Amino acid sequence: MSKTKSSESVKVVVRCRPLNRKEESNGPAGGIVQMDLRLGQVILRNPRASASEPQKTFTFDAVYDANSKQRDLYDESVRPLIDSVLAGFNGTIFAYGQTGTGKTYTMQGAWLDPEKRGVIPNAFDHIFTHISRSQSDKQYLVRASYLEIYLEEVRDLLDPNHGNARALELRENPESGVYVRDLTSCVCKSIKEIEEVMNVGNQARAVGATDMNEHSSRSHALFLITVECSQPGPDGRKHIRVGRLNLVDLAGSERQAKTGVQGERLKEAAKINLSLSALGNVISALADGRSSHTVMVATLGPAPQHYDETLTTLRYANRAK
Ligand code: ADP
Ligand code: MG
Repeated sequence: MSKTKSSESVKVVVRCRPLNRKEESNGPAGGIVQMDLRLGQVILRNPRASASEPQKTFTFDAVYDANSKQRDLYDESVRPLIDSVLAGFNGTIFAYGQTGTGKTYTMQGAWLDPEKRGVIPNAFDHIFTHISRSQSDKQYLVRASYLEIYLEEVRDLLDPNHGNARALELRENPESGVYVRDLTSCVCKSIKEIEEVMNVGNQARAVGATDMNEHSSRSHALFLITVECSQPGPDGRKHIRVGRLNLVDLAGSERQAKTGVQGERLKEAAKINLSLSALGNVISALADGRSSHTVMVATLGPAPQHYDETLTTLRYANRAK
């Protein structure tokens, strides 16, 4: 991730999910991830008894432990970014981590349980509540797109022909930069409508996937929201302000990191790396060259058998700061 322009800001937070039942039944060793919430630190214990360095400490903008609430993460780490989108800036939130560590839980969560609603439904509430309370001379237009990147191909999840639709192309325009050609965009007038758009896209994602877990661990899902606000200025003319929000649930990080894979698996690992570069293009296309804010949520599991992956995620997140 680039931080060279002063108009860009990147905030990195780390979240660790609870041990699951299977991991708990593996023995009394417990988790290897400890957090100091006040200092924003993650302390990772090396489960190998002979390790020369028994623990490593990393510091981030914020850390969320197994007891953290969806709402806390939203209010502290996401809300300011959504406010900046409502003010006309561009924002990106992405979840990064090994499969099974809580990327989808963090981004989507369980919609029907108010305690478990993730970043995306909370952002929907936030945006539409803001609009309903705004001054009456402001007119808002909210549009949503939903796409996935699977093996280097960009697919439109809102296209009714999703299953057999051609992959979308990234095009470059000398004026406006990179963009996704022919991407469907739906006008949403309420929380209900934008939730419906998300549901349609989630269903399209599952269609054709023989194993949904496998599919989601290999593909990136991007939900994109544009908030346009027009208001008469002091000169009587209409002023238009546009903020863009990119909500990204990345493919499992393990595929890019794993070494020692051979043959088909290696080709696939290479393709997923390529697909990360396609993602980079899409995100920079969406960032549009103006000031932008990014929040990266790196997700971890606490189990000892994932020590290497967890360390890799922490190092990657540490470099992104
Ligand atoms: P990923 O998308 O990274 O592959 P998931 O979000 O699907 O991972 O999470 C894997 C499992 O762990 C799911 O059953 C999910 O409900 C659970 N889980 C993840 N994070 C948390 C959390 N913070 N608290 C409780 N359960 C969680
Ligand atoms: Mg997932």
